[in-house]
Amino acid sequence: MQSANRAWSGLAALAVAASLSVATVDDDKPAQAPKPDAEQQPKAEKPKPATTVQQVVIAAKQFASGAVCDGCSGTGRAPREGRRDNGGGSNMTLQKEVHYKVECTACKGVGLRGSGPVWNLGTKLVGALASISTTDPKWGDNIEKVRASIAEVAAVGLSALQRRIAGTVETKLTSIKPEMNEPLLCVGLIADDNIKEGDRRLWIELSSSWYAVIERPRITDGFEGKAALAGGIVRRIEDRNGRKLVELHDGFVMTTKVQE
Ligand SMILES: [Zn+2]
Repeated sequence: MQSANRAWSGLAALAVAASLSVATVDDDKPAQAPKPDAEQQPKAEKPKPATTVQQVVIAAKQFASGAVCDGCSGTGRAPREGRRDNGGGSNMTLQKEVHYKVECTACKGVGLRGSGPVWNLGTKLVGALASISTTDPKWGDNIEKVRASIAEVAAVGLSALQRRIAGTVETKLTSIKPEMNEPLLCVGLIADDNIKEGDRRLWIELSSSWYAVIERPRITDGFEGKAALAGGIVRRIEDRNGRKLVELHDGFVMTTKVQE
């Protein structure tokens, strides 16, 4: 058997050598999801109304601004400038101003902040996303904003995201087991995309033994054969015909246009 880390990061499409080491979790435990079955209709006497579409938009923007490295805007390379001797004869040296790029020191070239912010902000977004009513007309008006923010994070690269979250996902699924109704993020290869009883479900291969089944994603950008960042609320974990499944509801699936 391979070591757990290698097996877990064994996504062929993403397994660039540099990304095989699994990052450890930097800090706090992931944020807890709001209750997914929370009452949707705000009532005057309720001190805390259910999650609003606006709160989801804000959570999505916070995910993008907090997960993407601000030292390099997600590129992994930061601009530098300096002066270079351009030759100028014996008495005076002409110097030319040069601009170049170096590996970003803030993220060490990954393009993302640490595992803690990526996981916490991403799972917070999943929790908020799952809590809204998709029949709220405001959702239709704002879905593109939320999609754009998630796409911004995915655009940094799925290998980079895998480096940041694989360790947490592995620990959650194999050691401590996620709690039901807890939000989860993952990166994997979309192995199947089908409709069951009118609801879309995507199977995502996370490792050699684990699949995530994304049920009724609220935002879906991806199809079979593509790698994706995905998330949802944990509703079920089971062994089925030798496969281990975690069923995630009401989240998202997002691929990236970036070639990896
Ligand atoms: Zn950076």
